[in-house]
Amino acid sequence: MYTLQEFESFPRLGWLSEASPVHGLPALAAQLGLRELWVKRDDKIPELGGGNKVRKLDYLLAQPLYQGASDWHASGAIGSSQLLVAARAARSMGRGFTAHACGQPFAPEVMQTLAQLQATASQVVRYHNRATMALSNPSLVLRDRSRGAAIIPPGATSPTGNLGFVRAGLELAQQIRAGELPCPDRVYVGLGSGGTAVGLAMGLALAGIQTQVRAISVVEAVFVNRVRIAGLIRRLTAPLEAGGVLLPDEHDLSLAVDTSCVGSGYAHPSKDSLGACELLRGHGLALDPVYTGKAMAALLRDASDMPASKLLFWHTGFRLHDDSQGL
Ligand SMILES: *Cc1c(COP(=O)(O)O)cnc(C)c1O
Repeated sequence: MYTLQEFESFPRLGWLSEASPVHGLPALAAQLGLRELWVKRDDKIPELGGGNKVRKLDYLLAQPLYQGASDWHASGAIGSSQLLVAARAARSMGRGFTAHACGQPFAPEVMQTLAQLQATASQVVRYHNRATMALSNPSLVLRDRSRGAAIIPPGATSPTGNLGFVRAGLELAQQIRAGELPCPDRVYVGLGSGGTAVGLAMGLALAGIQTQVRAISVVEAVFVNRVRIAGLIRRLTAPLEAGGVLLPDEHDLSLAVDTSCVGSGYAHPSKDSLGACELLRGHGLALDPVYTGKAMAALLRDASDMPASKLLFWHTGFRLHDDSQGL
């Protein structure tokens, strides 16, 4: 059984000094016929306005490639947390930051995120869509074309970035062992670039926690095929083995990808997702319709098939306003 304490030998910047909080939603659990429903609040992470990207950047940006560069680049949709949180990281560490931002369906939150990005990044380069961005600037999405430039990969997903969620899995395991919450039958989390879900499943397996990570895709099924997920798991083993971690048995890693909740596509709110946001608002939890709303919609739908089970929802969302002081 591997612990969070042992994992702290891996280099990181040192964000996330404390475990993100967990709490129950007993009224909603009763309404859904669940034995228990819990939430892991990464939206409460103090640093950089919180959210799942902080965990990945904590490890990714500690690498010499980024530490040795005066300017960083990253790409994403105009409303993505990845760009805004990376821009905050650059600012707090005194680096220049160019955001390569492609269009996505407009919504009030998207425009607010873009406004924050423009106020935080050194430069925002706009592209019509993902394809025009990738064509005019292949190094943004293809690692072997980057020629040593300090480019943050899409979603901050890379073998090193994903260590942030291995750590998150170990952190949850520690909270379970400390009796803060019961061991859940399933953990629901949104899936975009996949690093969050893969890292989490790995961390939980390393800790010996028997649960299933349900990765709810917010991107079209072609981007999350079995080969891609298997590749993410395989590449994650390299930094772990290099750090002397004894890998878990393949069968202990329990990750199921669900592509049924994406609706009409990435960044398009779905009816179920909007409904989930509305319902959860009534229980004091703010979700977004593009990531966390879709993951919650899957949980709400599955709950009726799993009476008396214990579920955990991983809140990966970030705060529009960064109330932290950076590093
Ligand atoms: C980026 C993001 C995700 C998806 O994480 P990946 O590691 O890219 O799969 C989920 N939820 C929110 C709120 C995000 O910003």
